[in-house]
Amino acid sequence: MPRVRDSILVVGNWKLNGTLAENEARLASLAISASRVGERVQMAACVPFPYLYQAQQALRNTAVAWGVQDVSEHHFGAFTGETSAAMAAEFGATFAIVGHSERRSYHGETSTCISAKIGRALDSGLTPILCVGETLEERDAGETTEVVSAQLVEVLGALTSEDRSRLVFAYEPVWAIGTGRTASPEQAQAVHAHLRGVLTAVSTGLDQRPILYGGSVKAGNAEELFSQDDIDGALVGGASLVATEFGGICDAASRIHGGLANVIA
Ligand code: PEP
Repeated sequence: MPRVRDSILVVGNWKLNGTLAENEARLASLAISASRVGERVQMAACVPFPYLYQAQQALRNTAVAWGVQDVSEHHFGAFTGETSAAMAAEFGATFAIVGHSERRSYHGETSTCISAKIGRALDSGLTPILCVGETLEERDAGETTEVVSAQLVEVLGALTSEDRSRLVFAYEPVWAIGTGRTASPEQAQAVHAHLRGVLTAVSTGLDQRPILYGGSVKAGNAEELFSQDDIDGALVGGASLVATEFGGICDAASRIHGGLANVIA
């Protein structure tokens, strides 16, 4: 039976960028884009922790969701510098990026740690966006499917099937993140289709969850990516900082997927 895609999700990952003034303009332009694309596309921005309150205030009464780029694997306690999922949720965050390749490589995050973070995010009602992706060396060695399958299975293995069914997934080839080098639509589609097969094998029905593509998505390449059967949206880094680019990506999504329902119940 063909898969029915009922929504498209475009999430900005602001990373370590922003000032109060820059954010004000960026958040305002998100709200404008959202009113243009209407309910056909679900938009979100994952902001740095100090801007939780600003995002909450600027995005209330808009259709734009927002979230964070990481959460602590702990609930609370003596963990200096950490921010919990519950703290983010208290401000109204709904998404948490987990297992981004920059967290895996710069902060040594393991699958065990990522599963724990997903657990904390779900405990607090956040929707985790679990990122997987291969390095250039792994791709060149023909190991892409093996690497992304292992990343997925290791993390999902530590979760209950109920927890798994609340995740959003993102395929982000490490060699395409922030490099300006995007996976071709065919390359991305092939990995997405593979991931969907892995998800089905892990839990029946899990293949119906959204799989976003991330890696140098821009207004100019979004439409072709969104035209692929298994690409349900995008996780956008650099281009999410430029209002016209992010708005253009959302417009491309609405051209491809008119009249769609929301991902989040
Ligand atoms: C990301 O960091 O999640 C990302 C996809 O970055 P960029 O769009 O800049 O490649």
